[in-house]
Amino acid sequence: MRLLARILLAGTLVGVAFGGLINLAVGRSGLTGSLVGAVNGATITIVIGSIEILWLPTRRGLALQQAPFLVTFGVKWLLYGAVITAVNVAAWGERVLGVLADAPLPPSSLTRLSVVFSFVVTFGFLFVLEVSTIVGRRTLRNIVLGRYHRPRAEERFFLFVDIAGSTALAERIGPAAVHRFLNRVFRLASDPIDDYGGEIYQYVGDEMVVTWTVAEGRDDARPIACLFAIRTALDEAAPKFEREFGVAAGIRAALHAGPVISGEVGGSKRDIVFHGDVMNTAARLEQATRDLDRRFLVSADALSRLAGTERYAFEALGPQALRGRAAPVEIYACAEGTDMSTTERFEISKTEAEWRKVLTPEQFRVLRKQGTERAGSSPLDKEHGRGTFVCAACDLPLFASDTKYDSRTGWPSFWAPIEGAVRNSADRSFFTVRTEVHCRRCGGHLGHVFEDGPKPTGLRYCMNGVALQFRRG
Ligand SMILES: [Zn+2]
Repeated sequence: MRLLARILLAGTLVGVAFGGLINLAVGRSGLTGSLVGAVNGATITIVIGSIEILWLPTRRGLALQQAPFLVTFGVKWLLYGAVITAVNVAAWGERVLGVLADAPLPPSSLTRLSVVFSFVVTFGFLFVLEVSTIVGRRTLRNIVLGRYHRPRAEERFFLFVDIAGSTALAERIGPAAVHRFLNRVFRLASDPIDDYGGEIYQYVGDEMVVTWTVAEGRDDARPIACLFAIRTALDEAAPKFEREFGVAAGIRAALHAGPVISGEVGGSKRDIVFHGDVMNTAARLEQATRDLDRRFLVSADALSRLAGTERYAFEALGPQALRGRAAPVEIYACAEGTDMSTTERFEISKTEAEWRKVLTPEQFRVLRKQGTERAGSSPLDKEHGRGTFVCAACDLPLFASDTKYDSRTGWPSFWAPIEGAVRNSADRSFFTVRTEVHCRRCGGHLGHVFEDGPKPTGLRYCMNGVALQFRRG
């Protein structure tokens, strides 16, 4: 929306300048010309902006956007040039402002000039815009402005994002499908990366490297926010991926930061590259996501350079020796939200889409989204038979009936779980720290544990009945 406003302003200003100048040139009032130009400019940008923002994301728009460069460019040039010409030649601004009557029709040479002007300006704007999608907007700007013509020492974040599961995919569906798969993932990731001001440095195989200067990335912990936005985009697209490729895209990632030398290299193919130990360490860190069995690792060096990290949960993994590096690196696992249970790895792990298939909407809301059922809504609250309460998602026995008691809260309550069946984490929602309880095997959220229970433990496991199932006997 801010982008649209900015484009609109720019379009209006171009109109003002053009209208004013051309009217002055033929000896008419510059002010009227500027006003007419402003109306024309604004109209043109609204029409073209709507095409870019509303039509391009549709199926046909995407087909155009993904066509070979010359096709995309040619079609857009003709289309946008035609819009501009139509607005100018139809004297739209004059009509809107009602100044058509008292102004003589412009000479035809002027009309021709304005048509040429429209197409030339469109060509220029469009060329820069479209070329920037080839090298990246920031890289283009930096090369044009010569920001890194001389190498600079600067501090940068590097986010290595690895697309999980594409190797297995290669064996199953072949390299052409893998290419399509990765292309789709990288495309989906590009909006979140733009939104959070990141710059795609490289695509390497099934991995992409995104970078920020520390100044650009620090606020709102942008690299972390960006990563979770990418994951959300992929989760939302999961059903489509499963239909097309038989598998949803998952990601692993590592974030590191430190000093690098940034500079232009190359002759006929120029690029801005980064040199420094930070890159190697970030790559090693990304490999360590497998060894440490965590989806997302952040180094202490990166964490100390970020602001606004309190929206995320971090689990200290301590100093870890990374392959090919002498000094150990202090590492944290990171999760979205403040619930640490989501960084743990579980025996049973499914994508959001897969969980939705096997759970009822209410079960999904509680087990996977840390929801809480309405008090008194579960029949299990009044279940006092002999048997076992198992996880509704994975059937793991969680509580024996002889530990159940009536807490009068409206939620099934127990004074102890079956040994090793559940794990706890700190839940910082609702402004207090509560101890969250989840299933050891599938990570499903079950409820909370409080220290106001009966003997012998003094604990009250306050569970959501919808997260449990009762097995008699
Ligand atoms: Zn479970």
